[in-house]
Formats: sequence, structure tokens, C-alpha cells
Amino acid sequence: MRDDNCIFCKIAGGEIPTNAIYEDDDHKVILDMSPATRGHALILPKQHYKNIYEMPADKVGEAFKLAGRMAQTMTDKLKADGFNIVQNNNEIAGQTVFHFHIHLIPRYEGDGQVIPWKPKESTPEGLAEIRDLFQ
Ligand code: 5GP
Ligand code: ZN
Repeated sequence: MRDDNCIFCKIAGGEIPTNAIYEDDDHKVILDMSPATRGHALILPKQHYKNIYEMPADKVGEAFKLAGRMAQTMTDKLKADGFNIVQNNNEIAGQTVFHFHIHLIPRYEGDGQVIPWKPKESTPEGLAEIRDLFQ
């Protein structure tokens, strides 16, 4: 599957040149052009899936397995102090390019970066109600 209007299909397929740090048959890992930190990279599956909802579970698994390996390698090579893995789905969640991707964000002491969320309060009843949805 490929979407002719999708920039990440073109990058993953090699039509648009990019700075890749890893490639296999199914994925390309590229440097983000507006990095949160030094070495911020994106895992792009070569197949076009709009988001995690459209992607078969085994493909999601392979992409996250690669994320785990990349976290190790990138932390070593870049001498990072920590690592965030972020994956956005739909506009409300911050997705701006609608081809599934995983953000690999090395973190450094004093990098001043914030991976945002604002913790809110909970109640025992509220948490129990949500838990019960999954019973
Ligand atoms: P999202 O907000 O969809 O989770 O993330 C999209 C990411 O792709 C952003 O961090 C943005 O900087 C990056 N990006 C968008 N277009 C390009 C591009 O053409 N090349 C590269 N290397 N990164 C891109
Ligand atoms: Zn695509």
C-alpha cells in the first residue's frame, strides 16, 4: 500500500532524499527535520498506514520492536541520558503527518525539552469506572 500524496511514502520509498540512520525491508528510520533534541528520529513503515488504528497488530509490533532496538543504539551512539518514544494518532493527539510513525527522542540532561502533558486529578470512583469498562 502506498499513497501518492503522502510525503512519508515518498521518503520511505526513496523518492525524496533524507537522512536515514537505519533501513530494513519494512522500515526506514529518518532524522526529523524539526528535531525536539539532537538525534530526534522517526520510524517510518514503508507501507502506508494512516495511523495505529489502520495498522495490523503484527506490523505495529514490528515497528515497536524496532523502536526498542533503536533506543539502545541511539542512546549509545549519541551518548543520551534518557529516551522518549512517542506515537501520535489523529489530530487531537498531535498527529500532523498521516502516515504512521514513531518518534524516537533522545534526552540529555539540561536539554530544556518538554514532552507535554498536564497531570490532572483522579478519584477512586473515576478510576474504577474506567477499569470496569475493560472487564
Ligand atoms: P507528528 O506531529 O505527525 O507526530 O510528527 C510529524 C513529524 O514529522 C514532525 O516532528 C515533523 O517535524 C516531521 N516531518 C514532517 N515533514 C517532514 C519531512 O519532510 N522530513 C522530515 N525529515 N521530517 C518531517
Ligand atoms: Zn504514506
